[in-house]
Amino acid sequence: MVSRVIPVERFDLVIFGGTGDLARRKIIPGLYRRYLAGQLPDDARIIGAARTDFDRDEYEGFVRDAVEKYVHVKKHNGDKIKAFSKLFSYFKIDALGDEGWKGLARLVRKDVVQAFYFSVAPRLFGELAKRLHKYKISNDQARIVVEKPFGHDLESAKKLNAVLAEYFDEAQIYRIDHYLGKETVQNLMAVRFANILFEPLWNAQYVDHIQITVAETVGVGGRGTYYDKSGAMRDMVQNHLMQLLCLIAMEPPAHFDPDAVRDEKLKVIRALDPVLPEDIVRGQYRAGDGEDSYLEDAENPDSKTESFMAMMVHVSNWRWNGTPFFLRTGKRLRARKSEIAVIFKDPPHFIFEPQDSAQDGRRCNELVIHLQPDEGMDLRVTLKEPGPGGMRLMDVPLDMSFAEAMGRDADEIPDAYERLVMDVIRGNQTLFMRGDEVEAAWGWVDPIIEGWRSRGDKPKGYDAGSSGPEDALMLMHRLGRRWREIT
Ligand code: NAD
Repeated sequence: MVSRVIPVERFDLVIFGGTGDLARRKIIPGLYRRYLAGQLPDDARIIGAARTDFDRDEYEGFVRDAVEKYVHVKKHNGDKIKAFSKLFSYFKIDALGDEGWKGLARLVRKDVVQAFYFSVAPRLFGELAKRLHKYKISNDQARIVVEKPFGHDLESAKKLNAVLAEYFDEAQIYRIDHYLGKETVQNLMAVRFANILFEPLWNAQYVDHIQITVAETVGVGGRGTYYDKSGAMRDMVQNHLMQLLCLIAMEPPAHFDPDAVRDEKLKVIRALDPVLPEDIVRGQYRAGDGEDSYLEDAENPDSKTESFMAMMVHVSNWRWNGTPFFLRTGKRLRARKSEIAVIFKDPPHFIFEPQDSAQDGRRCNELVIHLQPDEGMDLRVTLKEPGPGGMRLMDVPLDMSFAEAMGRDADEIPDAYERLVMDVIRGNQTLFMRGDEVEAAWGWVDPIIEGWRSRGDKPKGYDAGSSGPEDALMLMHRLGRRWREIT
C-alpha cells in the first residue's frame, strides 16, 4: 500500500531546547522520517536554539547521532542523513537573557510558515513567548508548540495561558499531548465516526464499563525528585488519561475541525462528576527485582506522592448515565501496556447452555484499543467452536494490528511526535489541547488532590512487577467487574 504524502509549505522551525532529550529522542528523529517520506520542502530550515555551546558543525553531528540512535536502522541512509542534517542550523540563546536573540531574529524568515517548539522546562515558556515578541521574530501567523506539563494546577495553568495570550492568539498555540498523536487514538475517532456499527452501541444502554490503562515498567529513578512534586495524577491522569477519556466519551462533532472536536471534548470534562475518596486508590511501589523503592527513587522517605492510581469516574450526561469509567496508571508495573477497553453488556437473554469457559459466567463483547507497545484494535466476539459436539462457544478476537492491516512493518507506523510536528506546520490544531480544555481538566483534578492533602492520605504500597495495590483490584471487584490483565 502506497501512502499519500502531501508536502508541506516552506517553513522555519525553531526548536528551543534543541539539544535536549526530547529533541534528540523524538523531535529530530520524527522530522527525519518525514524528510525521508519526501514531506519536507528542500528549503525547510530547522534551527536548534538552546544554552549548549555548539557551533553549526557540532549541531549537525548531534542531529546525525540522534537519527542514527533513534530511527530504525532500516531507514539509515548515509547520504540522506547528511543532507537532512544540512537543513539544521544552531543558535546559542538564553531564554532568560538577551544572548543570541538578535542573531535568531536575523535568521528566521518572515514570509514562510514559522513554528517555534518550546521543548524546554515549563518555567521558560513565558520567557520564550516574551522574547519572540520583543525581538520581533514571530509573525502574526507564527505557531508555538508548548510541551507538557502545562501548569501544575488550575491557577498556574491559568497564569501560563494568560502569559502566552499576551503574545499569541489561541489559534497560534499548540499545547502538545503526544497521546493524541498516536495512530490508534486517531483511529478511535475513525472507528466511532466513520462506521455505523459502533456508534449505536456506544452508550450506557450497551456499554457495561470502560477501562483505560497506561502501565509502565520503569520507575521514576533519574527524575524522582521532579516526579515527587507531581505524581501520577498530575503527570498522567490530568493530561493523557483524561484526553483518552474525552475521545471515548465525546459526542460526534458536527465537523472534523479543531474547534468542533475540542468543544465536544470540553463538554465531557465539564460533565465529569467529582470523585468520591473511596473510588480512588493510590499506590507507591516497593523495592523489588533488584530495583529501589519509590521512596528511594524520589529521595524522600516521607513522600506521600503516588506512583500508581486507579479510579472510577462517571460522566454525567444522557449518553453515559451510570456507566463507570475505570482509569488506571502506574510505574513499575508488570508490563508496559496502554489500552482502552470498551466492555459491552451481556446479551439480554442467553439462549445457549451456560459455558464453563466464559469468564465469570459472562459473555460480553470487548473492543480493545491498543496504544502501546503495538498499536491496533481487537474486537472480541463469541462464535461456535468448530466441529461436532454441540453448541460450544468460544471467544475469538477479530484482531486488527495496524501494521499488518496497512501492510507495513511496525516501525513504519508514524510516531506521535512525527505527526504532531507536521500538524503544526500545516496549521491543524485538532490534536492539540485548547486552553479552556486544560483549565477544565485542572479544575476537576485540583479538588481531588486537595482532598488527599487535607486528609493526609497515604498511598498503599505495591510490589514492583505487580498490577498495583490490592485495593485497586477491589475497586472493580466490589462492582462485580475486573481489570484486564496487565501482560
Ligand atoms: P532537557 O533537560 O533534556 O533539555 C532542556 C533543553 O533546554 C536543553 O536543550 C537546554 O540547553 C535548554 N535550556 C535550558 N535552559 C535554557 C535557557 N535558559 N535558555 C535556553 N535554553 C535552555 O529536557 P527535555 O527532556 O528535552 O524536556 C524538554 C521539555 O519537554 C520539558 O518541558 C519536558 O517536560 C517536556 N517533555 C519531555 C519528555 C521527554 O521524554 N524528554 C517527554 C514529555 C515532555
